[in-house]
Amino acid sequence: MHDSNCIFCRIVSGEIPSRKAYEDEEVLAFHDIQPIAPVHVLVIPKKHVASLEDVGDQHQGLLGKMLLVAPRIAREQGSEDGFRVIVNAGRVGRQEVFHLHLHVLGGKEPLGAMLPRPRQ
Ligand code: AMP
Ligand code: ZN
Repeated sequence: MHDSNCIFCRIVSGEIPSRKAYEDEEVLAFHDIQPIAPVHVLVIPKKHVASLEDVGDQHQGLLGKMLLVAPRIAREQGSEDGFRVIVNAGRVGRQEVFHLHLHVLGGKEPLGAMLPRPRQ
């Protein structure tokens, strides 16, 4: 499914450019435009799913794939000694883009204890 009002669907279709880090038939990963860590990659499903709030049993395989690619992407981007995965969901989770995504955060040095901090 493609939602033409959704910025990440438009990244999947190539309408909006992105700096790709990984791609397969189900999943795309690209660098966050406003990184909060030396490695900050977003992993998204190619098909539109709005939020982790909305997933069901039919998404089990997709969610597994998204988590499985996270360590591979982190390593390939130079985060060789660990990384963090964050999913913001819904209003309380401060989700800003309503197309499901994992934030993969890393770098050479340990991240701040409370990263990511809320943006203004
Ligand atoms: P959130 O929905 O709060 O989990 O985060 C959405 C993330 O998407 C933020 O970290 C933004 O910097 C990022 N973002 C928004 N637009 C783009 C874009 N065009 N390319 C890459 N990252 C983006
Ligand atoms: Zn979308």
